Amino acid sequence: MDNNEFDVIVVGSGASGATLARDLSRRSLKVLLLERGADRPMAETLSAIAAIAREFPVAEGLKATTAYTVGGATSIYFGVCKLPTADTFDKLGIDLARELDEVRRELPVVEVSDAFLPPQSVAVRDSARALGYPMKTHPMLLDTSKCPDGRYSYEAKWKATAFIEEALANGAVLAARAKVAKVIVEDGRAVGVEYRQGGTVRKAYGKKIVLCAGSPATPKLLIDAGIDNVGSRGFFCKPAFMMFGSVPGLAGRDAFLGMTECDLGNGVTLGDGAMTASLFKLFMLSNLKLTRLFSHAGTVSVAVALNDAPGGRIDADGSYHKRLAPAELDKLKAAEGIARKILEHAGARRIFRSRYVAGTPGGVLWVGEHLDHDLQTRIPDLYVCDQSLMPDVRITPLVMLVCLARRLANHLALSLQAQPATAPAPSGEVTA
Ligand SMILES: Cc1cc2nc3c(=O)[nH]c(=O)nc-3n(C[C@H](O)[C@H](O)[C@H](O)COP(=O)(O)OP(=O)(O)OC[C@H]3O[C@@H](n4cnc5c(N)ncnc54)[C@H](O)[C@@H]3O)c2cc1C
Repeated sequence: MDNNEFDVIVVGSGASGATLARDLSRRSLKVLLLERGADRPMAETLSAIAAIAREFPVAEGLKATTAYTVGGATSIYFGVCKLPTADTFDKLGIDLARELDEVRRELPVVEVSDAFLPPQSVAVRDSARALGYPMKTHPMLLDTSKCPDGRYSYEAKWKATAFIEEALANGAVLAARAKVAKVIVEDGRAVGVEYRQGGTVRKAYGKKIVLCAGSPATPKLLIDAGIDNVGSRGFFCKPAFMMFGSVPGLAGRDAFLGMTECDLGNGVTLGDGAMTASLFKLFMLSNLKLTRLFSHAGTVSVAVALNDAPGGRIDADGSYHKRLAPAELDKLKAAEGIARKILEHAGARRIFRSRYVAGTPGGVLWVGEHLDHDLQTRIPDLYVCDQSLMPDVRITPLVMLVCLARRLANHLALSLQAQPATAPAPSGEVTA
C-alpha cells in the first residue's frame, strides 16, 4: 500500500471513531483517523473549553454544542450514563446486547454513592424530595480511584482519547487538524476522502470509509456524496435549560453535572445542575450574568430537559431546523415552575432561568432507511457510525455508540478478512 492508502479511513475521533480505530487496529488493519480539531492535552479551564467548544443552531432559539478536538465531545461531556435498553435496540433495529455486556466490562460504569454529592447537590436533592420529586443518582462513566474523597476530577471521566492512545500504539495513524471536505466516490463506490490540513488539500484512499464526524457534520458529508434523504424523519435535540439561585452561606464545590435526576413522567426530567466553577463561569458569561461570575460556591441549580418528539428538517447545507410544538413548550414552562419551587425550598434567592439550549441532535439516520443493517449507506463502502444514529432520546448516547462501533469494527474486519484481534497493546502517547 502507498502512504495514503489504508484499509479503513475513519472520519472523526469522538467516541465512535476512537472505538472503531482502536478495535480495527487490534486486528492489524491499516487505519487512518482524521480529525478536524487539534491534538492537545485538555485541561478543563475556561479558555480550554472555549477553544474547542462550538455552538450551532438546531431549532428556533436553540443552539447545541459540539467539540472540535481529538476525542470529540467526550472532552467536554458530563459522564452521565443512562444505559441503552432492549427498547433502544428495537428502535435502532439492531440488537447490541452482546456488545453491551462487553462494553460494560470494559468502561468504568459506576453507581455513585452519596459521598460524591457536593453540598449544593445535597441541598437540591433534599429539597426536591421534600416536595415530592425523588431525585435518584445515575450511573456515571468514572474511574472513582481518580476522585479522592469523592471529589470532582476531570481525569476521572472516561474519554475517547483512552482508545485513541491504544489505536496509535497498535499502528493506527492519526491526522489532527485535518478537516474532511468530501468523500471521493468513483464508479459508484466510496474510495477515499479529500481533506484539508495546514492549508493543503490532500487525498487518502481506503477500502472502507466510515463517517464518525458526529451529527453536526456527518449529514453534510452524506448529502454532498449524493445521498438525498438525510434527516427524512426529522430529528430530536433534547431542549433544556438551567435554573440558578443563590443560597447565603453555602460552601459548594466542583461537581460532576447531572448526577441526580427525577423523571416527571411526561417526557421532562429535573436534574441536579451542580457543575465545575469553570463551566459555571461559562454559563454566567453566555447568559450575561456578569455579577454572578464568581458565585459558584453559593449557587444551587436545577437542570430541566425535555425528550422532544422527532421533527424538523436538515437542509442541503447540513443545517438543522426545527420548531418545538406548543405542548412541548408548555411542559418546559410547567417544569420551570417546579424547579423554581425546589430552589426556593432549598433557601435560594435571586433565582433566574438560563436561555434554552439543545443537546446534540439524534434520530437523523435510521437503519433500514438510510443505512443497511451493517451501517453501510447506499454508496458501497461508505458507512456511518455516530450520534446521527441515536434512536432513543431517553438514554445518554455514549455507551450505545461504543457498542455500535464495536459491532461495525467486527463486521469490517470480517469483510476485510483481517487477522483475529490481538491482546490490547500497552497505551502510548497521542501524537499529532
Ligand atoms: C456538553 C455535552 C455534554 C454531554 N454529556 C454527555 C453525558 O453525560 N453522557 C453521554 O453519554 N453523552 C453526553 N454527551 C454526548 C456525547 O458526548 C456524544 O453523544 C458523543 O460524544 C458523540 O460521539 P460521536 O462519535 O458521534 O461524535 P463526536 O464526539 O461529536 O466526535 C466527532 C468528531 O469528528 C470531528 N469532525 C467533525 N467534522 C469533521 C470533518 N469534516 N473532518 C474531520 N473531523 C471532523 C469533530 O471535531 C469531533 O472530534 C454530551 C455532549 C455534550 C456536547
